[in-house]
Amino acid sequence: MLHIGCHLSASKGFAAMGREALKINADTFQFFTRNPRGGAAKEIDEADVKALLQIVQANAFAPLLAHAPYTLNVCSAKEETRTFARSIFKDDLERMEYLPGSYYNFHPGSHVGQGVDVGCDFIVEMLNAFITPQQSTTVLLETMAGKGSEIGRSFEELQNILEKVEQQEKVGICLDTCHVLDGGYDIVNRLEEVLEKFDKVIGLKKLRAVHLNDSMYGLESHKDRHAKIGEGAIGLEAISRIICHPVLKTLPFYLETPNDVQGYGEEIQLLRGIFQRESEGK
Ligand code: FE
Ligand code: FE
Ligand code: ZN
Repeated sequence: MLHIGCHLSASKGFAAMGREALKINADTFQFFTRNPRGGAAKEIDEADVKALLQIVQANAFAPLLAHAPYTLNVCSAKEETRTFARSIFKDDLERMEYLPGSYYNFHPGSHVGQGVDVGCDFIVEMLNAFITPQQSTTVLLETMAGKGSEIGRSFEELQNILEKVEQQEKVGICLDTCHVLDGGYDIVNRLEEVLEKFDKVIGLKKLRAVHLNDSMYGLESHKDRHAKIGEGAIGLEAISRIICHPVLKTLPFYLETPNDVQGYGEEIQLLRGIFQRESEGK
């Protein structure tokens, strides 16, 4: 069975996202832990969380994926921005325990000219300061397009960070299909090679989730502009190979395509159909 969902707005609360996911035949979803531009998170409503957990259990959802705000940049040259990033990361991880066993995805950050090594050190420092052996959340570093001075454009950069994390069981990677193509990995024509490379550099057991997006621009463009499924440089055929690939098909997929909820529903229906036909060998 294909585990697939999409990004949903958290503005109406947790249970509302669960209901919305069910309506579009999703069995998971992604949401922002707070305003994507940062700022204070809403007070947790325990009854609302409980209602979501009931939906999650009753419908055997794949792990939910929380996304950190884009403004979280622990590699900033400004002390103030780094302190802000650490406080959000810490607070988010504490709040995540209301949704046991979920994933928390963040953009590693932009080193803004200080260099990749300096940036990676700041990231490792934050991860080791706040990830605890007791937490049930797995923290995921997202593969990045390499826009500007973004860290995480290559598997080597991500591994540089991952290998220095003390709580190895609590960290992994979220592969964004738009970003890896932009970053220079040809998942359209050389999916097998890209996965072999990932395995060699990081290890496939660290791959925990996929952001499933088409890309407006092509290989090595470093643009980070998402497109609807089948309407970009990746295309429906390559996306079908991705969701049906033996090492990927058991992972949860999260759509971040430019869609409203109905549009997401149509993409989910399309992809479920493809997956179903493929697994029946038609
Ligand atoms: Fe992201
Ligand atoms: Fe993404
Ligand atoms: Zn993106």
